[in-house]
Amino acid sequence: MNILLLGSGGREHALAWKLAQSSLLQRDDDTFYAAPGNPGIADHAMCIDLDAGNHASVLEFCGEKQIGLVVIGPEAPLVDGLGDSLRAVGISVFGPSKAAAQLEGSKGFTKDLCERAGIPTAGYIRTMSLAEATAALDKFDAPYVLKADGLAAGKGVVIAETRAEATEALTDMFSGRFGEAGAEVVIEEFMRGEEASFFALTDGATILSFGCAQDHKRVGEGDTGPNTGGMGAYSPAPVLTPMLRGEVLEKIIAPTVKKLADEGMAYSGVLFAGLMLTDQGPKLIEYNCRFGDPECQVLMTRLQSDLGELMLACADSKLAACDPVKMSDDVALTVVMAAKGYPDTPEKGGTIDLDGAEEGGAKVFHAGTRRLEDGTIVASGGRVLNVTATGKNVTEAQAAAYKAVYAIDFPSGFCRRDIGWREVERER
Ligand code: ATP
Repeated sequence: MNILLLGSGGREHALAWKLAQSSLLQRDDDTFYAAPGNPGIADHAMCIDLDAGNHASVLEFCGEKQIGLVVIGPEAPLVDGLGDSLRAVGISVFGPSKAAAQLEGSKGFTKDLCERAGIPTAGYIRTMSLAEATAALDKFDAPYVLKADGLAAGKGVVIAETRAEATEALTDMFSGRFGEAGAEVVIEEFMRGEEASFFALTDGATILSFGCAQDHKRVGEGDTGPNTGGMGAYSPAPVLTPMLRGEVLEKIIAPTVKKLADEGMAYSGVLFAGLMLTDQGPKLIEYNCRFGDPECQVLMTRLQSDLGELMLACADSKLAACDPVKMSDDVALTVVMAAKGYPDTPEKGGTIDLDGAEEGGAKVFHAGTRRLEDGTIVASGGRVLNVTATGKNVTEAQAAAYKAVYAIDFPSGFCRRDIGWREVERER
């Protein structure tokens, strides 16, 4: 079959690497395309110039190349309804419809859905004006959790320690800084606990667990400094014990999938739940309608099932016929190497020498890289490489990943030196 993968980050490199191993791509006439891809993805797929925002050109390409499956990596095209445009002409798509992608596209939509389905999450208020939002703060205690409703690239959430800070943040949010995404603000009760991520595949009826992970959002060691897209991750997350995973499936994932189907918005694709493990049990922080980045890199490293078959089964509502997802018992850990200055002003163009980095069995996924005409790899984004390795536990996986990191010559890059620290301390 011919497959088209959309996206260009480390997440998509991991998906491309795994998809290239799928039985769906083993015949001589099977072609794997990626748009726009990156130099790492180019090892597995033919990278083409195609704008996911232009539905007509994606449809035309799919028709011309007889694409049998489209895999949409990032959230923006999903929230924008690319899945619907493709499905309307009979193309199988891995990723939810525009209606179901509201789970990520609108925090207010998700909170209301949780309320209707009785899903454990933080108490909340949706508000459309600064005056209303400021008055609503009375109903909450510090710290105040304030969120722009729409997609804001991870920058739309403020945790304000004092009422004055909260008022200032609300003023900023309603000033139009986030455009449409900030026209509505959700104020939430603050939840305490450790965070973890849980992933499930669903076709709207059947649900298959797809493992769990923990990531490190802050740029600095010890989880300090500004938030980023994620500086590293590991899977599985031992804090999500088998019992807690069962609880997440039963009390959070299953009722979400059922409620969406009952309301005519059946969800198909991967459902990524951001969880807070509170004293009262796991509670939902947020949903994402795609794989996490960098969580995807560690999940794909552990995945033993055929990714292409699972994605096609999701797309074609045939997940009931699939076996449970098989993951290796090993721990996978990924270290994000970023360009100096990230997350504010990453330095672009720095050269990277990857020679020898994968010799010990590690895998280097490309995120923000570009290949120059002479073959040199240079940094072209904030997060540049995801250096991923496995081990019997987090301590071993961490040692293997950093061994590969130290083999990489990237003078204008940096990384955190403590990815997995919480778990390494527990293992000690
Ligand atoms: P992401 O970049 O993960 O997509 P986002 O912008 O969609 O983030 P959320 O995941 O809703 O926003 O929140 C970001 C972070 O803020 C969470 O990972 C968590 O650390 C913190 N947070 C969000 N909601 C709460 C809450 N109700 N109580 C405590 N902390 C919270």
